[in-house]
Amino acid sequence: MLTRDRAVCIRTVDYSETSQILTLFGRLSGKIRAIAKGSKRAKSAFEGPIEVLSCGQIQYSPAYEGKLATLTEFQQEPARGQMRRHLFSLHCGLFAAELVDLLTDECDPHADLFDHFLAFLQDMDEGRLEGADRDVLIRLVLFQLVLLYEAGLRPILSSCANCKRSFGPGWSETYFSHAANGLVCRDCEMSFPDKIQLSTKAAKHLTDVKEIANADAKTLDEIERVLVRHLTGILGHKLKMAEYVVGVSISPGGDGNLERG
Ligand SMILES: [Zn+2]
Repeated sequence: MLTRDRAVCIRTVDYSETSQILTLFGRLSGKIRAIAKGSKRAKSAFEGPIEVLSCGQIQYSPAYEGKLATLTEFQQEPARGQMRRHLFSLHCGLFAAELVDLLTDECDPHADLFDHFLAFLQDMDEGRLEGADRDVLIRLVLFQLVLLYEAGLRPILSSCANCKRSFGPGWSETYFSHAANGLVCRDCEMSFPDKIQLSTKAAKHLTDVKEIANADAKTLDEIERVLVRHLTGILGHKLKMAEYVVGVSISPGGDGNLERG
């Protein structure tokens, strides 16, 4: 029986001269691995090879007995292509796809996460983030927080993860610890050798999600570094695209605001 869904391609592997094995993230299906037979032929049902981050309506016959699903149709939604013209946007999109692949399980749907992911990709593709590194990074940070939440790994960001004391202006030092899964206060930091100290600004913006959009480029980059470190700790290995999303938005030539404060 064929299943229909809307999906984003999050990974491709060449299978033979003519076929690809795709990892697709479907709104209703969750993550699926499917073979797209003949997809690399110019004249196939898929109109050429399927690229990572392409999105569309899919039809597939589900996997059974450990085999791959078979993709029979992928009607790609037209893209404006702005994301592929702005390297930092493309890298952030690819990093988001890598994380979705690593942090979701097959056939475990997350419709909210799908909607966030797609809106992020579409806003970049249609140039709604105006190609501004800072705007793209804000969206990437928020996306990662949604992903952690959906994966059941929500970090503790409103209080000390160890002693539960609420974060507030009285905190003279704030740390983040992967091992503690969140913020750690000055009294508890000694127990967490992996902790890193946050700047006052990073602590303020990270502890209130609504404030993230008001953070300057340097603070966003600091927050992104904390998240990359935390995600690397969760997954236990290096993330392929991580080096392309940190340190970029504040480098000369980026549009980052380098003022210290
Ligand atoms: Zn504490």
